[in-house]
Amino acid sequence: MLNRYLPSFRARRTVATAVLAAFMCAGCGLLFLLFAGGREADLAHARVTDAWNRVVPLIREGPLPPVLYRGEVEAIQVLDARGRVAASTPGLIGKPPIATFRAADRNVRTTRVLCPRGSAGCVTVTSYKVYQPQGVWLLYVAVPEVPWYGTTTDLLLVIGISVVVTTMMTAWSFRNLTKAMAPVNAIRAELGEITLTALDRRVPVPANYQEIRLLAETVNDTLDRLESASTRLRRFTADASHELRTPITAMRAQLEEALLYPHDTDWPRMTHAVLAGVDLLQVTAADLLTLTHLDARPLLRHDLTDLGRLAAAELRRRPRQHKIVEDLAEGVHVECDRLRITRLLCNLLDNAERHAASRITVSVRAEGTSVIMEVADDGAGIPAEHREMVFDRFTRVDTARDRGAGGTGLGLAIAREIAEAHEGALTIEDSERGACFVLRLPAYDTCRSVRPG
Ligand code: ADP
Repeated sequence: MLNRYLPSFRARRTVATAVLAAFMCAGCGLLFLLFAGGREADLAHARVTDAWNRVVPLIREGPLPPVLYRGEVEAIQVLDARGRVAASTPGLIGKPPIATFRAADRNVRTTRVLCPRGSAGCVTVTSYKVYQPQGVWLLYVAVPEVPWYGTTTDLLLVIGISVVVTTMMTAWSFRNLTKAMAPVNAIRAELGEITLTALDRRVPVPANYQEIRLLAETVNDTLDRLESASTRLRRFTADASHELRTPITAMRAQLEEALLYPHDTDWPRMTHAVLAGVDLLQVTAADLLTLTHLDARPLLRHDLTDLGRLAAAELRRRPRQHKIVEDLAEGVHVECDRLRITRLLCNLLDNAERHAASRITVSVRAEGTSVIMEVADDGAGIPAEHREMVFDRFTRVDTARDRGAGGTGLGLAIAREIAEAHEGALTIEDSERGACFVLRLPAYDTCRSVRPG
């Protein structure tokens, strides 16, 4: 409970100490009151015994005066053997017996609490049997009833001390909690000032409060990630603008030149050149849209697909410039979004067509719990130090050549996003010649497809 609402161990310890102190104070107060009650009861008992000591010799040896000295008790009354009032203290003169009870059997003494009608409170009445020749006389001694807490003074004293201690502990806890919350306030204030333009700022990490320190460190880690995501996004936006601006500038130059020299312009050639630029713009815009969609982690379809067949169909469909060697195992199944895996394969095949010298090899096989699809070519290959980099957006190892060849620089980024969205991986592995792209996907689990019942 405390763990949920209080931010640090110190704060929890403060509240726990305050609560413990309050309980201890209440416990001590209770013990004191019980002790005071016991002491008052003993005193009352001593007063009753004193009265008994005084009156019993008067009953036994006489003379018994009709009016008795009250002493420290509330009242005394003596009844003779016939139950008539033989003597009493001044307050009871002329009044009937205050009680009629007596100790049972051989007992001499018994006590009861009586609350007479019309009187302010209850009294404790002790009845003594005094054996006389004429019969049993009864001596009643009344004292005010002693409450369990002793006297009102004791009770007020304990309540006063408890209030003072509780107030002091509350003030101490409040001061400590305010101190413990200070780092949280500092973190909140700093977080409030961090905007997209100030992502380099970090929240203060307190030295003492462990939980708050962990919170601040986690917030700073999140800010680190946000900052690098924002930097990546800024770089991507700049790259995208640059990629879109280059063909636009080229097309504009071609169109302006044609307008300046309309008679010297080869219009069909110029139109084809501008159309090529428009095509590149179109493909880049479409790729950007695809990446944005993939970044949002869309829900994929789960089509049960024979990967070998899918590759064979795609290879049959597309025009080819190079010899294609197929090594496609049958019955290798995956659960995938067929359209997206086809898109991935197309991107790899487009690149292979662009870079191969004469031959492209496409293979599909099962390997343990994975399914492997390889697209290899016999081109120049990709140096080991660039094999991760080429998956970055707008990365081209040989910029001029690739842009000239119509690549957007997004094909491999899209392919890897699709692989990862399928819980798979796309990597470049060593091969004897050229580049070898390897797609690993989880194999279709036949056990999973068996429905219970
Ligand atoms: P592009 O549209 O420019 O091909 P990609 O993301 O598909 O963009 O590829 C990124 C870069 O990776 C390419 O510009 C090229 O330099 C390199 N690349 C991709 N495939 C191959 C390959 N089969 N052989 C050699 N280099 C490749």
